[in-house]
Amino acid sequence: MPVRAWVGLGANLGDARATLRAALRSLEAVPHSRLAGVSSLWRSAPVDARGPDFLNAVAALDTTLAPLELLRRLQAIELEHGRERPYRNAPRTLDLDLLLYGGLCQDDPVLTLPHPRAHERAFVLAPLSELAPALCWPGRQETPPQLLQMVRDQPIVRLNGDWR
Ligand code: AMP
Repeated sequence: MPVRAWVGLGANLGDARATLRAALRSLEAVPHSRLAGVSSLWRSAPVDARGPDFLNAVAALDTTLAPLELLRRLQAIELEHGRERPYRNAPRTLDLDLLLYGGLCQDDPVLTLPHPRAHERAFVLAPLSELAPALCWPGRQETPPQLLQMVRDQPIVRLNGDWR
């Protein structure tokens, strides 16, 4: 049975919109997986990072890949789109995070699930609230819109139009 995984996409260098669109095409091509949904595009100010504003989105992927295999695929897509890591939290062409993998909770530093900072980032919670407002967050009581309320000081804007 496939598991629904949630992937966070972010880009803040170069033509960020084109990068995210290309990343979506790569997500569609992940084996043993089906792209089940994509949020609007959102613009957010960098958190713990430098450089221009980010463009962000969230995608739902139904997959039979194991969690670590899916993470490796996401990292390969980051590399394919020219991500360089000159230093921690450097500006990046493309950042893909595995936010949630079904209801799985695990504390492994190689792959922490849910993603350890996802529940406190508006750029994750706003797009996720669009796609899955009633989602049960593993290990938490709140839904994405309720978590978003708790970080409403983080500026984020939804961009109109179909970007995919
Ligand atoms: P970042 O530079 O923020 O993309 O972090 C990448 C590092 O975080 C990699 O070494 C991953 O193995 C690790 N990591 C741990 N949990 C996750 C997760 N849920 N999604 C993506 N990367 C993760």
